[in-house]
Amino acid sequence: MLPRVAISGAGPSGLTLAALLARMGVPTVVIEKQTKLPTHPQAHYINARSMEIFSHDLGLHKQLQRLSPPAEQWNDFVWCTSVAGRELARIGHALSDTRLTPITRSAFGPIHLSQSKILPELLKSTQLGLPAACPPADVRFGVACSSFNETSEGVHLRLSNGETLDVDYLVAADGANSKIREQLGIKMAGRPRLSSLMNLHLRVAPEALSSAHSAMLYFVFNPKVVAVLVAHDIDAGEWVCQVPFSPDFQSEADFDLSVCQDLAAAALGVSPNMVDVLSARPWTMHAEVAEQWVSTNHGRVLLCGDAAHRFPPAGGFGMNTGVQDAHNLAWKLASVLSEESDQAPALLRSYETERRPVAVNNTVLSLKNYERVLAACRALGIDSGGLDSNGRFLAQVGGVAAEKALALARAQLGCLEKPGHPLGDLRVQQLRRLLAQGGGLPLVFPKHELAFAYSEGALEAQTAQEAKAIDNAAMVDTVRVGSRAPHCCLELPSGHVFSLADLSAQLHSSGVTRRRCFILVRSEPKEEENDDRKGGIQDRALGQIKCRQPLVVVTVKSDLDLKGENTSVSAPSLHDWSATTSGSVKHLPCIDALGDWANAVGQGRSLLMRPDGHVAWLGDSNESFDFSRFKNGPLAALLAPVRVEK
Ligand SMILES: Cc1cc2nc3c(=O)[nH]c(=O)nc-3n(C[C@H](O)[C@H](O)[C@H](O)COP(=O)(O)OP(=O)(O)OC[C@H]3O[C@@H](n4cnc5c(N)ncnc54)[C@H](O)[C@@H]3O)c2cc1C
Repeated sequence: MLPRVAISGAGPSGLTLAALLARMGVPTVVIEKQTKLPTHPQAHYINARSMEIFSHDLGLHKQLQRLSPPAEQWNDFVWCTSVAGRELARIGHALSDTRLTPITRSAFGPIHLSQSKILPELLKSTQLGLPAACPPADVRFGVACSSFNETSEGVHLRLSNGETLDVDYLVAADGANSKIREQLGIKMAGRPRLSSLMNLHLRVAPEALSSAHSAMLYFVFNPKVVAVLVAHDIDAGEWVCQVPFSPDFQSEADFDLSVCQDLAAAALGVSPNMVDVLSARPWTMHAEVAEQWVSTNHGRVLLCGDAAHRFPPAGGFGMNTGVQDAHNLAWKLASVLSEESDQAPALLRSYETERRPVAVNNTVLSLKNYERVLAACRALGIDSGGLDSNGRFLAQVGGVAAEKALALARAQLGCLEKPGHPLGDLRVQQLRRLLAQGGGLPLVFPKHELAFAYSEGALEAQTAQEAKAIDNAAMVDTVRVGSRAPHCCLELPSGHVFSLADLSAQLHSSGVTRRRCFILVRSEPKEEENDDRKGGIQDRALGQIKCRQPLVVVTVKSDLDLKGENTSVSAPSLHDWSATTSGSVKHLPCIDALGDWANAVGQGRSLLMRPDGHVAWLGDSNESFDFSRFKNGPLAALLAPVRVEK
């Protein structure tokens, strides 16, 4: 089968997109220039929204949970003179107390797992567990995308092995230094080259360090090294040590094996012979977002993941934002490829309108988080200006002089080694005060992880006034147009419990719908407001129409509504549910047994969920649902009503 979509890059963004498209039946080819998946760990915090995508959409929950170390091993951040040395301060992040409110509550909490362990699972997911008649993605390693031509008909792609490919769409998931972005002439906006780091991937003899007082991050300050250590898996002895690297006066050759081993051992506080350096990779940190995400001419080349944005790692948004870009893009690509429509460019442009502001917000947050890390360094007497690539003074003096200046800056950290040193005690007090006042780096960011919302895009048409009101709304507590639908546990009369957030994926994977669908969820109006006439009109209207995409109508009844009803009658489970189909509109009755819906959305309210679980419309159940509200937007072609033949 000829591919319709080509993805350049088999990183987390490209593979997530390929796995999602494979489930949606879109023939896809992935081109990866490396010969195999990387073993260098890189990112490691998977936030709750990415876990929802990996779990609901790709069914990877169990595998990823199994591979992730237990939460008590990575709950904390520590400031210390070395991992085995003096602990100066520790902050714990109670993962069970994330101030999550109904909208942000999720069936899946965050996990800590190296990118290098996630990638093989994603790769498998592009091949296995696909619905019937969905072709696996064609993933080709060891060949690069060299160049492309875009026309109104499609994209002609040239590969490094001389082959060519013709596809409908090309997705650049080729990382922070994207060649496709460069060929499109798209500029990055923001702050480039904030800092450079040398990332050392380590294997540490497990007996060298105990996991008794473990943490995810260790900020290390001693006269030999200032470093951030990430404990990827303490029991397996897998660590990453990030040390400042200043390309202005240092070169990669300065970090040979024995230098790296000594730096890592000094940061860990163990003898060098207990440390194996598996790989050393430089990484430059930027805070930038691409000015455009969709090609101007024909809208057939789209940027995804690091190709579209590159953040400081503080807060762990790099990989997560890319995974969530892929999730936003997948159903749109699948829709435009299955519907011949002049609305296709508008739907794909909504990818940029929706995701770019999220990436900008995440950049701002990541920068703020990076500043928080630097503030803690300053409390301990280290001014990053001298230690990272922004150290212009050091860049000017260069070479040996710069190295000596750095060594001098670190030498004073000796005062932290033991309590009782007047300067050391003062600095530790400063650090602890800063952390007690909330100046440390948080682990979980509910607002950015789960409560982000699209204020314009593929949604009900809104006036500018309404969009502004949404911007000012209390983000975390509100279900609103553009936000992710809440995780509400609903129950079928048969007893089957499902999460509303998971429903579209469940219906698709269980074969009830041919593709990811729109879901209209309406709850019964409160008793005193119940008006059979209006409800009846709505039902009749839905019975008569057939929209181009499969539409599922979920009717939520409160527990009370069921009193006196015969719930023992065998009601449809999700699997045999197609029995209740009318045209392409399928009906599912369910019960708000725990009151989740009433709390999160409100009894008597209705919402329309898009295939990616975001709310496209929100209103009262007594309002007759009217497809024409989408008629001028990108969803028009998908939701256009068609009369059912009698
Ligand atoms: C050394 C390092 C350490 C990092 N550490 C952290 C961290 O601690 N925390 C954090 O949050 N983030 C970290 N990051 C960032 C994080 O890894 C990225 O945000 C994430 O990998 C982005 O995923 P992606 O799929 O968009 O891009 P990438 O993972 O960069 O994947 C892009 C892929 O495209 C391939 N490619 C490139 N050009 C071509 C081409 N022409 N043809 C075909 N294939 C091509 C590349 O080989 C690569 O496999 C780190 C990054 C690096 C490099």
